[in-house]
Amino acid sequence: MAEKRDYYDILGIEKGAEGKEIKKAYRELAMKHHPDVSDDEEATEKFKEISEAYAVLSDEDKRKTYDQYGHAGMDGFSNEDIFRNANFEDIFQGFGGGFDVNNIFEMFGFGGGHSRGGGPQCGSDIYAEIDITLEEAAEDIEKDINIRHDVECSTCHGSKSEPGSNPETCQTCGGTGKVRQVTNTILGQMMKVRPCPECRGKGKIITDPCKACDGKGKVKENNTISIKIPAGVESGSRLRVPGKGNAGYVGGGYGDLIVLINVKPHKDFEREGPNLYYEKQISFVQASLGDTVDVPTIDGEIELKIPPGTQSESIFRLRNQGMPVMRRNSKGTLYVTVKVVVPQKLNEEQKDLLLEFGKKSGEEINTYEKGFFDKVKEAINH
Ligand SMILES: [Zn+2]
Ligand SMILES: [Zn+2]
Repeated sequence: MAEKRDYYDILGIEKGAEGKEIKKAYRELAMKHHPDVSDDEEATEKFKEISEAYAVLSDEDKRKTYDQYGHAGMDGFSNEDIFRNANFEDIFQGFGGGFDVNNIFEMFGFGGGHSRGGGPQCGSDIYAEIDITLEEAAEDIEKDINIRHDVECSTCHGSKSEPGSNPETCQTCGGTGKVRQVTNTILGQMMKVRPCPECRGKGKIITDPCKACDGKGKVKENNTISIKIPAGVESGSRLRVPGKGNAGYVGGGYGDLIVLINVKPHKDFEREGPNLYYEKQISFVQASLGDTVDVPTIDGEIELKIPPGTQSESIFRLRNQGMPVMRRNSKGTLYVTVKVVVPQKLNEEQKDLLLEFGKKSGEEINTYEKGFFDKVKEAINH
């Protein structure tokens, strides 16, 4: 086996690097070497290498041990131990798509979640996305979502053994799942306890694997899950559905389903948090004389009183006509911006009336010849 490289060198950082530098370095390398994006044949190996370095250096205790003893200090840790407290969640947030922490766990050959040697192990979380309309986001709804996840094998019930057969006690570790190892270090002899390599810490060896699941204890299954989405949800929110992720091991329970909500853009409304924005066009007659007009809200039309003399770009604030605020009994505001539209087509009678109106207002309109006026208008419109 090749000599292990220094974790700081792997991430290309100084020995005294701060937490955020470590995170930044790892994030950049992960984006380059993640097997989902890299064509490099060794991408998986490289990704594992940087992930391991990050897992150790981002954990204060493990980093101290590593700084003091180097790789020898990490001997007593299994891969699962190394990754146990590592926080990859916020690293992979924003990567989108196929990036998730379970990729790493799978590459190292163990499931996500919590592991305790051969004991029960909680299943890993799975991720899904769903698109909903703004109308749907305005009320409590239930939506079906299709997922593919690991479920417990119904033949062996997760035991991994063919029904009727029993796993044998591991002879290497006598069923404890652990082996002791004495190593010579500069500090003298050190006793290390590590997971048994023969049974991988399980204490038992399966001699007759379940045929239905190839001895995995779990099988892939497509399922439709109904999820409840609370009113007021915003694009980019994540919903956690407990127990709908992947099956764990040895009755360790299921991981969670995490659903990313995407609220689709609306044809009429812009949204900002609980507030909605709408643009209403009115004529200059309505603006001058005042009127009552219909404006849409997220749950039906309402009447809006336009006072006489309303200027274009005036904003009307309609309280409690916005989006619901999640898990609170309140609603945001609907802001209606009024646009006064100047008519583009006038017949002769309308033109005469307007000229008359101008005259009555004391305006001196430089009346172009109507033919000329029309030509200018045509030039503008074409
Ligand atoms: Zn099975
Ligand atoms: Zn063993």
